[in-house]
Amino acid sequence: MVGTLEDEVIEKTGWEAERLEKEVFTRQERFAGLLTREAAVQIIAEESGVKPAPEKEVIYDQLSRAKTTPGASVNVRARVFHAFAPKRFSKPDGKGGERQGKVCNVILKDATGEATLVLWGNDVDLVEKDGLERGDVVEIKGAYVKSVSPLELHTSMLTRLDIAEGDFPDLPLPTKKPVQLSALSPGMQDTDFYGRVMRVGKANEFVRVTKKGTQEKGLVCDCTLSDGKASMRFVAWDENARCLERAEAGDAVKVEGAYVKSNASAEVEAHAGWTSHVVLSPKGHTLASTQEMLSSLYPRKLLSELNDGETALVTAKVIELRSAAVITKCTACGARTESGKCATCGSEKTRSFLMVRCRLDDGFANLPAVLFGREAMDLLGLKQLGIDAGTALELKKDYLIGKDASFVLQAKKNDVSGELEVVVRQVVSTNPNPADVAGDLSKRLEN
Ligand SMILES: [Zn+2]
Repeated sequence: MVGTLEDEVIEKTGWEAERLEKEVFTRQERFAGLLTREAAVQIIAEESGVKPAPEKEVIYDQLSRAKTTPGASVNVRARVFHAFAPKRFSKPDGKGGERQGKVCNVILKDATGEATLVLWGNDVDLVEKDGLERGDVVEIKGAYVKSVSPLELHTSMLTRLDIAEGDFPDLPLPTKKPVQLSALSPGMQDTDFYGRVMRVGKANEFVRVTKKGTQEKGLVCDCTLSDGKASMRFVAWDENARCLERAEAGDAVKVEGAYVKSNASAEVEAHAGWTSHVVLSPKGHTLASTQEMLSSLYPRKLLSELNDGETALVTAKVIELRSAAVITKCTACGARTESGKCATCGSEKTRSFLMVRCRLDDGFANLPAVLFGREAMDLLGLKQLGIDAGTALELKKDYLIGKDASFVLQAKKNDVSGELEVVVRQVVSTNPNPADVAGDLSKRLEN
C-alpha cells in the first residue's frame, strides 16, 4: 500500500504526528500564513529527503477552472496584461526585529478568464530582473489559489515560474501598443513607450505623507529619455526608481503603464508610479543607437560654425583644463552662495555641484567651455565627488588633454566679455567611435 506524503515524512523522519504539525506550522509562519498545509508538507518532504512524486508532464489549468478550486495548487499558462511596480515592505520577524519582503502583482488572462498573480520574495525577480513585459506568456507551476472572486493566485517556495517562448495563439493579446515619445501628451494614463537613457540621475529618498496621515519613505529618480525623434524627462518612483538607477547612459528601457503630465515649466514629462513598471533592456525594441539618436536630435557642427544659443553635436579635443571647483547655488533664487544659507534671499535650500572650465579645439577653432554637475563629473570620469575638485582635475589631466571627445554643446555669449563660449550639455563620449571622428574630419575637409 502506498501511503500519503505525510506518512512517508513520518516514516523517514521518525517524528510523532505532533512534531509534524509543529513543522508544518513553522513553514506556514515563514510564509506569513500564505502557505497551504499541502505545500508545507511538500517542503518538509523535500527537506527531509523524501522524494516527492516524480514530475509528470505539466497539464495547465484554465483560469476558469482555477476559479472553482480555492486553496488548491494550480498550474497556469497565461498572458501578461499588466505588471505593477514591485513593492517592499517590512514585517516583524517575531524576534523583535524586522524582516524585509517584496511583493508584486501581475494581471494575467487566458481564453477563459483573468487572474491577479501575486509574486512574493525572489519570485519578484520575474518582473525586476527577468524583464517581464506586457504580452509575455508565463508558465506557473504550483501556484495556489488564494481567493476565487476575484481570482488571485499566489506564489510560494514551491512555485516554478518561467517566461515561455512561443506565440500561443490560443491566448488573448493585449491591444495596447507602445507609442512614440512625441505622441505623449499631458493627461495620458497607462501608456507604454520605449526610449534610450540619455542621462540618469541618482535616486533620492524623500518622506511622503500617506492618505492615512502616516509618513513613509519614498524614492525618486529621473532621467532624460530619447527615441531619436523626441526626448523627454522621465521620473520613476519607489521600486521603479531603484530599477531606473541601475540604467546607464545609452541603455534602452521600456516603460509600461506610465502617466503623462506637464511640469512647472509647461514641459511634458512621463512618470512611473505604482501602476507602472520599468523594463531595462526590453525585447524587440527598434531604437537607434545613442550616436544615431544624437545625430538626429542635434546637427553635427564645427566649433567655428556655432552661433549664439545654438545646440550641436561636436567632436573636439580638450586642450586645456583650467579649473575645477565645487560651487553652491540657492535653489530658490539661483544666486551663488557660500554655505547652507542663501546670502541673497535667505533660503536654506542650496545645491552644491562641480564646475569645470576647459578649452576645446576641433582643429579649426577653439572655444572656452564650461561644464556643470553631472557633465563635469562625466568629463573627469567621476562617480562621486569624494576627493578635492582640484586634485581630481590634476589626476585626469594627463588622460584628457589632447584626447578627442564628443559633446552636445550649447553656444553662449559670455555675459561679461561678450565672447562666445560653450556650455557642455552632455559628454557623449571621452572615447568616441573612430567612425564618428572620421565623419567629422570629412566635414572639416568639405568646409
Ligand atoms: Zn536665494
